[in-house]
Amino acid sequence: MAHVTLEPTGEEFSVGEDEDILTAALHNGINLQYGCRHGNCSSCKHWLLDGDVDDSAGSVYAIPRNEREDGAILLCCAYAKSDLVIEIDQHDGVEKLPPMTPPSPRRARVLDQRTLTPNLVELRVALDHPLSFRAGQYAEFTLDTGERRSYSLASPPSSGHELTFCVKRVQNGVFTTVLDRIEPGSLLHLEAPFGTMFLRETGRPVIAVGIGSGIAPLLSILTDAAEQNIDVPIRFYYGARTAGDLVYLDELAELSRRLRDFQFIPCLSQGSPDTLPPNGRVGRVTRALAGDIRDASLYDAYLCGAPEMCDAVGRLLEAKGLPEARIHADKFYPAIETAQLPA
Ligand SMILES: Cc1cc2nc3c(=O)[nH]c(=O)nc-3n(C[C@H](O)[C@H](O)[C@H](O)COP(=O)(O)OP(=O)(O)OC[C@H]3O[C@@H](n4cnc5c(N)ncnc54)[C@H](O)[C@@H]3O)c2cc1C
Repeated sequence: MAHVTLEPTGEEFSVGEDEDILTAALHNGINLQYGCRHGNCSSCKHWLLDGDVDDSAGSVYAIPRNEREDGAILLCCAYAKSDLVIEIDQHDGVEKLPPMTPPSPRRARVLDQRTLTPNLVELRVALDHPLSFRAGQYAEFTLDTGERRSYSLASPPSSGHELTFCVKRVQNGVFTTVLDRIEPGSLLHLEAPFGTMFLRETGRPVIAVGIGSGIAPLLSILTDAAEQNIDVPIRFYYGARTAGDLVYLDELAELSRRLRDFQFIPCLSQGSPDTLPPNGRVGRVTRALAGDIRDASLYDAYLCGAPEMCDAVGRLLEAKGLPEARIHADKFYPAIETAQLPA
């Protein structure tokens, strides 16, 4: 075991040689900013002040070479080779997170799978014991091969015993293959909760943007907001190709009855004006936002789904005045693109 000290907080914890530093910190109840946990998003970039790590499992794109030379490491891909002192990045605007439930393993019995569209599947599981989490967080399925795949919880925290996931089918995908072989009663293993995307109760109106399976964490957040009587205006832009690719329309209609000020704006990149659902737009979510939002500084934003979409919407909202620190994104990086760092 190695001993890790975080500066300037002085928090301390131990890490085993087979455990990455981020996971050890989370298991010890230490809250840090992080995202994908696969070395792709660089949200868990902090600075090694003393000691040695093996960080060869991170993406080449995650840290610029000059920052690596100055000691930047991704905690999710760094393994302690000695006792460590790590400076936590606390640049202006980095928020202090509230207490979060440390992740722990669960056995998940498959209840059923439902085809939502040719590309999206809803998976429901029952846990061996209930999970406490914040709406918007995700679970990691651990497969027999040792591989991990992250899926956001689409169900709200009020149903901590039965979890729902919205999974995109990917050709030859490892988890997609798992979906093809499981049936009601099959046993899966997961660890949860992970992630720092949850609704901040600032009282500001919310822009929520998702595409495809990116609806999952937003559905959990919206359902929880309705259950908690959270009373802020919410605009939900949901991107899909055609009207047939829109999912959870009944649930969203129900939410618009329960939430006092909720607008659902479906954006169809391959839609035509005559096939649009109510309030729908032709074009990508970025086009609808560009036209609708004049001053984004009034809002908090929550973006979920493909990293390219999250980045494009984030840039657009920043250009319209929304500070980066109020843009919360859950970028669905594929686990498999993690590359080895060059020597
Ligand atoms: C924090 C977080 C939350 C996530 N939440 C969800 C969620 O709620 N629902 C969900 O469906 N996914 C989610 N993902 C993505 C998910 O973890 C998997 O990466 C993805 O589903 C592919 O897994 P797979 O095993 O089927 O394919 P893999 O075996 O990982 O990939 C097979 C091949 O397909 C490519 N590929 C992977 N994903 C895509 C894609 N989206 N489009 C096109 N090609 C792809 C890979 O690069 C690879 O070449 C999330 C990811 C993160 C980091």
